Amino acid sequence: MLKPGYALSHLFALKQPTMPHSNAQSSPQTLQIIGACPHDCPDTCSMLTTVENGVAIKVQGNPNHPHTDGALCTKVSRYTERTYHPERILQPLKRVGPKGSSQFEPVSWDAALADIAQRLQGIAKRDAQAIVPYSYAGTMGLVQGESMAGRFFHKLGASLLARTICSSAGGEGMVHTLGAKVGMRVEFFAEARLILIWGSNSIGSNLHFWRYANQAKRLGAKLICIDPRKTETADKCHAHIALLPGTDGALALSIMQQLIKHDWLDHDYLARHTLGWEALRARALQWPPERAAAVCGIEAAQIEALARDYGACAASTSQPAGAQGPAAIRMNYGLQRVHGGGNAVRLIASLPALIGAWRHRAGGVLLSSSGTFPVQKTALQRPGLLAGRTPRTINMATIGNDLVRPASPEFGPKVAALIVYNSNPVAIAPDSGKVEAGFAREDLFTVVLEHFQTDTADYADYILPATTQLEHWDVHSSYGHTDALLNRPAIAPLGQTKPNTQIFRELAGRMGFTETCFADSDEALCRQAYGDAVNFSALLEQGFATLPTPEAPFAQGGFPTPSGKCEFFSQRLADRGLDGLPAHVPNHERADSSSAYPLVMISPPARNFLNSSFVNVKSLRDIEGEPLLEMHPQDATARRISDGDTVRVFNARGDYRCRVSLNQRARVGVVNGLGVWWRKLGMDGTNVNQLTSQALTDMGGGPTFYDCLVQVQAT
Ligand code: SF4
Repeated sequence: MLKPGYALSHLFALKQPTMPHSNAQSSPQTLQIIGACPHDCPDTCSMLTTVENGVAIKVQGNPNHPHTDGALCTKVSRYTERTYHPERILQPLKRVGPKGSSQFEPVSWDAALADIAQRLQGIAKRDAQAIVPYSYAGTMGLVQGESMAGRFFHKLGASLLARTICSSAGGEGMVHTLGAKVGMRVEFFAEARLILIWGSNSIGSNLHFWRYANQAKRLGAKLICIDPRKTETADKCHAHIALLPGTDGALALSIMQQLIKHDWLDHDYLARHTLGWEALRARALQWPPERAAAVCGIEAAQIEALARDYGACAASTSQPAGAQGPAAIRMNYGLQRVHGGGNAVRLIASLPALIGAWRHRAGGVLLSSSGTFPVQKTALQRPGLLAGRTPRTINMATIGNDLVRPASPEFGPKVAALIVYNSNPVAIAPDSGKVEAGFAREDLFTVVLEHFQTDTADYADYILPATTQLEHWDVHSSYGHTDALLNRPAIAPLGQTKPNTQIFRELAGRMGFTETCFADSDEALCRQAYGDAVNFSALLEQGFATLPTPEAPFAQGGFPTPSGKCEFFSQRLADRGLDGLPAHVPNHERADSSSAYPLVMISPPARNFLNSSFVNVKSLRDIEGEPLLEMHPQDATARRISDGDTVRVFNARGDYRCRVSLNQRARVGVVNGLGVWWRKLGMDGTNVNQLTSQALTDMGGGPTFYDCLVQVQAT
């Protein structure tokens, strides 16, 4: 069945029938379709879906894509299980019971869209800002993400959404230091001689980077993991520094102090290509190892050794790789989910300039490569449809407070309608007790575009069934490598599911929006995503196109900052009344600051889940078992807790019950609440976000999931 807006004339046979057939009429037709993994992961793998007689039977990594190298992670290898899941929502559903009661009945698309349009029109007549879109990276696709949806909400004049939930503090930190979310090319980590893996469990959440790091290790590189948790990645590194959460900035400053003290500096690079060195130098000198060690909860000797390793890689004009070879830093976003996250990223991103690491293609830092991609956001989202209106912006990290906030001149109208797509806020937003209370408002009109009946969908007035990546077109950028990818639909949409684009396209029609941009097909949107900046024929032919990026982007400076230099001092931050120099900014909830809640809790992802995706895939949930809290045996003994006990984890925001695992993955004083379980699949209908707070980061308005004090008791 062909539907408007997306055609199936594209089915692309990489391999024609693979099995010998004696009878062509009864033979299965086997195709392999090139796609892209849509999940929130830096690896952005190229996928091959094997389709037999219209049914996807296998998803595997594309061997022709260098970064994917033929391998997907365990989660996405099970993608067919997710797509054909018996609990997949395949028709529109309308709420028939109280909010949150999960009582729904099927309804036709016609009836659902007509009613939704009428309700939204009624609200928009009063004030369209009372309508709030809520979306994030349920798909990272540029088309099924914010293309037609952006157009729809811009035309409507709905509130804008600050999409801060994951990376905004670190993103701002990079922008105000290097000028953009750019850095080393991931493949060159394989040539580094020293790799600092900072705040990243690469084996769990950046597997294809780990392949390069491992290659470097085999060639003699030293790998050092800096992470409060002793992750699977830490197990494989030569050294592990288990600092307290939220103290990374202090550690970076102390490394600088040692580099200065021992003159492990590239003076020429500092003079030519940085801004604010003298001021940063003076600040760093205030951080001898003993001071930083006390803040970070580690030994001063560990800092001295780390700085010595890093300083040994200091480059110069005559030796661009340094005496010991190039040093590379792979950061990930975990470390910036604390009050001082933006400043910490600024400090770490400054380190390569001190030793001139950028001179070599295997030196520098990578947090995100997303700033490399020439995404034509304006063409996709059409902000011009606002026609001069300037709606307020709602921060998705504080949705718990904002859903129950009354109308006021400062806030604007009370939120009257919420349209959720590509996200599961009841599970993933901080302080989820409050989020749930907001969603439970009987007077809040909520529409959720989903694959499954998630915690959020439980609170919907309408659930609209959306297609998965196997059923729609999309185009992808990456935040871990520099290849653009195309996703072709491998199978027809199941049941009555529709792509997000089509849902917003049809809703626009019901609302009477007549602009021609609402008629653009998904294939047309894919072409608009990069315009002429990426060769679309290459995307069609091989599924990916490598961006022409320099090998050593800042060897000669040329940072995309206003000064063209690596900005230790940022005038833009100073103009906003912030400190123009990066500093260590302590946590909102500092270790040892509360006798009632003496443990710091971080909530890194359980290995077989990706945010809240895949929690309902039984084979993956079976591997995870139950919601788990990792605790150091010393902390457990003091509380008479035994391995495997059910424990109560609590603070002033709420209570959460889970199973405890006593092991060395947790350091003393820190517990690791692995997330993000669906609340209804955990114990007591809660998850770890019952405990996290809505306090924000120093820049970027990001959430502070890892800045959270708790107490733990046996139950
Ligand atoms: S989640 Fe990451 S590693 Fe797994 S398939 Fe997707 S992009 Fe690749």
